[in-house]
Amino acid sequence: MFSFLRTFAFALVAVATLAGPAAAEPLKLVLLHLNDWDKMESAGKVASVIAAEKEAAKAEGAFVLVTFGGDLISPSLMSGIDKGAHMIELAEQVGIEYATLGNHEFDLGDEVLKARVAESDFKWISSNVTLDGKPFPGVEGPQIVDMNGYKIGLIGLTTPDTSFLASPGPGVGFADYTEAATTAAGVLKGLGADFIIVLSHGGETLDRGLTRSVKDIDLVLGGHDHLARIVYDGRDMTASSGSQGEFIAKTVIEMDKVEKRGKLSLVWKPSFGLVATAGAIPAAQVQAQVDEYTAALDRELGQVIGSTAVELDTRRAAIRSQETAFGNLVADASRAATGADVGLANGGGIRGDTVYPAGTQLTRKIILTELPFGNSTVKLQLTGAQLRAALEHGVSGLEDGQGRFPQVSGMTYSFDGSKPVGSRIVEVLVAGKPLDDNATYTLSTNDYVGGGGDGYGMFRDAKVLIDGAAGGLEAGQVIDYVLRNGTVSPAVEGRIKRID
Ligand SMILES: [Zn+2]
Repeated sequence: MFSFLRTFAFALVAVATLAGPAAAEPLKLVLLHLNDWDKMESAGKVASVIAAEKEAAKAEGAFVLVTFGGDLISPSLMSGIDKGAHMIELAEQVGIEYATLGNHEFDLGDEVLKARVAESDFKWISSNVTLDGKPFPGVEGPQIVDMNGYKIGLIGLTTPDTSFLASPGPGVGFADYTEAATTAAGVLKGLGADFIIVLSHGGETLDRGLTRSVKDIDLVLGGHDHLARIVYDGRDMTASSGSQGEFIAKTVIEMDKVEKRGKLSLVWKPSFGLVATAGAIPAAQVQAQVDEYTAALDRELGQVIGSTAVELDTRRAAIRSQETAFGNLVADASRAATGADVGLANGGGIRGDTVYPAGTQLTRKIILTELPFGNSTVKLQLTGAQLRAALEHGVSGLEDGQGRFPQVSGMTYSFDGSKPVGSRIVEVLVAGKPLDDNATYTLSTNDYVGGGGDGYGMFRDAKVLIDGAAGGLEAGQVIDYVLRNGTVSPAVEGRIKRID
């Protein structure tokens, strides 16, 4: 009955426009969007939700596009092993058709990204990423998708912050968001686009700036900030699905061309939703693929990645009260990965509670046992005074073996544990020079501590250069550091001295 009425209504529209330009039938377009999905665990559920949505759309004669908003191939333990190839395979299997590049696509270097793009069945699109002034190899410019006579335009964009968030080669450029979008939208309008969608890996501020400053853009499907969000101001829309496949952002656009003063013009209305994947029954075939990858990962975790030339002590009492070689290793690896002046690792983040004798063969499993929280590394900019306050805080819980105790890199400090809390730090040197309270320093630490965890509230006032969503996995950085060096020797060398 309902479909009869709809058909009847459409027929009336067709009659009404007989004398004018040829009318199209109305289009119902269902956009299923996913972003910031770099961990494979949810793939089976994501696949089953997308399949069900496509089935439902088909049943009512709607058209579907499945899009991706960037950050696919990194960071995860598995991508540390296969450079993200498994996520390309899973993205294909869940049905992604168009994707924009995220900053994490550049974590593993240009050559890895070229290989991943080349092996993707779906299309990568970008209007602001270049290599040596030309489009990034295999990545395409603005697209027109014809859907039942309607021309749907698609543009890809990536945050220019990628130049310092990830590891793009020197030839990779990121053009200004608004400029690139304006040019691409102009191209699409020239090709007769009826409705223009941007796949944006830039976060909410850039997304909303786009809809305000580029009038031809109708919808921005976003990513990068890991927010599940839908914003609609009556004219423009932005939507993003959170992260790790927890939700699918579903945007339904019902559009029609109606005659106005002898000209056909587009009218449309949107509806939105976030479809949770948590309760879905995983699609069997995709889940089987995930299980296979998980088994492969488990085998890889036991493989030797290097060895230690010095004893590594991760016993709780040691790691929470004094310099330890393992603490040095973690702080060194995160500092090396971010290029920060100094590194700080909270003792409580190191959990193995064991001693590895000199000569021990290190495996990924050992590193993950020691760093089990899945934290990522952040890079902060702070003053010498803030850094001094952080160290004071770090040595304020000695009596109770608090996890805040700071293992460090790029700096040394001495403290007097007999003094009252708040006046224990005696001397701090950064790169051999006394800490200057008024100078500015960059610091690498994990996102838990950087966000104020373990009582490091002073870090909440620091400027964030790399946030938790953009940073690499702390454990992955330690693994890479060991792989790079083969034998590590993070000897206890006087970085931390207790003088009482
Ligand atoms: Zn991102």
